[in-house]
Parts: sequence; C-alpha cells; structure tokens
Amino acid sequence: MGVPLASQRRLASLDGRRPTVATLCSHSSLQIFHGARVEGLPTLGISVGPPQKFYDAFPLARPDRFLSVARVSELPGVAGRLREEGAVLIPHGSFVEYLGPEAFGALDVPVFGNRAVLAWESDRRKEREWLESAGVSMPKRFEDASEVDGPVIVKYYGAKGGKGFYLAKNREALSEFRPTGPYVIQEYVLGTRYYMHFFYSPLSDRGYRVGHGSLELLGMDRRDEANIDELYKLGAQEELLRAGIRPTFVVTGNVPVILRESLLPKAFEVGARIIERSIELFGGMVGPFCVEGIMTEELEFKVFEISTRIVAGTNLFISGSPYSDLVAPGLSTGRRIAQEIEKARAEGRLAEILS
Ligand code: ATP
Repeated sequence: MGVPLASQRRLASLDGRRPTVATLCSHSSLQIFHGARVEGLPTLGISVGPPQKFYDAFPLARPDRFLSVARVSELPGVAGRLREEGAVLIPHGSFVEYLGPEAFGALDVPVFGNRAVLAWESDRRKEREWLESAGVSMPKRFEDASEVDGPVIVKYYGAKGGKGFYLAKNREALSEFRPTGPYVIQEYVLGTRYYMHFFYSPLSDRGYRVGHGSLELLGMDRRDEANIDELYKLGAQEELLRAGIRPTFVVTGNVPVILRESLLPKAFEVGARIIERSIELFGGMVGPFCVEGIMTEELEFKVFEISTRIVAGTNLFISGSPYSDLVAPGLSTGRRIAQEIEKARAEGRLAEILS
C-alpha cells in the first residue's frame, strides 16, 4: 500500500460513486474527456463563459455536462457544486496557470495527483533543489556574470509564454544585457530538445518498478517555438539584433519525436530518480509528468524544466504513441488518467492518488 495523499473528509464527496472527471475547458481537455469516456467515467467541462462551440465538432471528446463560471477566479466559489457532482479535478498547464498555483492548491475539491507538488514546481529554486538532489543533470547556473564561460540563456523570474529570455553567446555579449527585473543566468545547452511524457502509478504492481508503483513512458514531443525555431533562416544573431529582432520561445505547436532506443535506459533513469526523490520530499508525485531537456552530442541529457501534470504535447497521441502502444494499444495520457482513477475506486485506494 502507498502513502495516503487525501484525507477521508476531502474524499467524502465521492463516497462509493463513480468519480466525474472534470477539468477546465482548455489545453488538453479534449484528450482528458475522451480518455474518461473510453473508460466509462462521466465528464464535466468547466468553461469560462458559455461553452465553446468547437466541442460540438468532437462528439467523442465533448464532456457530458458543462459548468460555466464568468471568470476563472470564481472557481473556489463553486467548489460545493463540484463536490456535489462527485468531481475529480484534472490539473493541466492552463488550469493551474490561469487560477494560480496557490488558489489551485487550496481548492476544496478532490484533485488527481499530489497537490503538494505545486510548491516544488512553481518556484525555480525549489525545482532545482528537487532535481539536483535527485541526481538529475541540469544546465549549469551562474551566480554572477563574471563566471560565465560560454553561451548562456538569461531567464527572468516568472517569464511567461516563452517571452522574457535573453541569449548571449559569451561573457562579452552578456555585458550588453540590461536587466529589467530579477533573473537567473543559465548555461545555454547545445543539443536536441526532448519533452518526455511519463506517468507514475503508485497502484501498479507490474512493469518498470519505482517506489511502490511503476513508471510508464507514454510519448515524446518537441515544441515548435516562435520565433527562435525559424531564426536561422534570417542569419546570425548580431544581424538580427541590429534589425531589432530578439529571440522568443513562444510555443506554437508540437511535433512527435522518438529517442534512439539505446537512450531509453537514460530516459527511464531520469524519470525514476525524479519520482524516488519526490517520494522522500513530499510524499510522491502521481500521474502524468513531463521531463523537458536537451540531449547533448556527448549523449548527456540535461533537464531544464519539469511539468508535473499532463502537458499539451500529449495531444499528439490521443490514439496512442510509439511508446504507449507498447503499454496498451491506443492508450493516451488522458485515458491513462481515467484508468488510474477507476482502478483506485475499484480497489478502495482513491486516497493514494487524489489529494
Ligand atoms: P514553460 O512554458 O515550459 O513553463 P518556461 O517559461 O518555464 O516554459 P523554459 O521551459 O525554462 O521556460 O524554457 C523555454 C524554452 O527555452 C525551452 O523550451 C527551450 O527551447 C529553451 N531553453 C530553456 N532552457 C534552456 C537551456 N538551458 N539551454 C538551451 N535552451 C533552453
């Protein structure tokens, strides 16, 4: 048996009935509702304003019912309604971002996964403490510009939407940087980016064993980022800066990728270390998470970020991926979430996966 994350009081709203899979209508909601529907769970879409018409275009992913609020900040006020519906909230990037990690963490409704992870993920320093103490390799961090010995990426605290970065190819170029707020200087890692979609199940007793449960790899993507991904077509950075063009990393889409098979042991090792350390630090991360990093030409994987919930890159794989198809045919992350909820309900173990 694993660690209980939720109190019985918080789970009282579920009381033996089939949980309703509920999430904010955005980001990966089509996949989440579709996955729940395939697994036979009821669904509820939380919409800001009237429900968006595009759900009508996807009958297999349209939630059974909608609950509308005028603003996302009104969500805590409808917690009672959500409990009456037997809702289990599925966090995704937009849900946590729009509501704010603190308000999300305080919602008095059962949430899929361990909400204690929010405090570790939303603070770049705590995130680094977690990953480095797990033995995961990360881009070097420079405390002072005088230590810089190669290309760097400067990240402002709270940089949002891919903007708020500054690239410098060396210390000299960095001296031209004029900060407008608090920032960190990080080694700019040269290599190829991979965003690995993992799922940790504390309930499973088979597969790749980690902690009391098992680790699954369900997919992998790379993000298309404008304008950086196309900058090369315009030539060297100095030329661009003269033209007033600064690089940004605004995500505009995702492409599927796979890793050389010989690198899979490394991928699993990184995922396993992150899980093992999360168990020691805050009782364990549950469900989907994404490890975002760069594979160098020395085949070292340096992790620059972790997303501790379903990421939008999984939307590529609603009907399965080259990895998830080897776990179960046609398995999406959304469907895997629903399976975990249903298994926990059937075994009376909801307290181990909800918080
Ligand atoms: P998110 O939307 O994932 O929260 P963020 O604003 O926290 O993004 P990061 O994920 O840290 O920002 O970085 C954004 C992008 O910058 C990455 O997708 C990657 O392309 C690039 N990047 C980040 N860190 C590095 C690094 N150390 N070396 C090279 N490129 C990097």
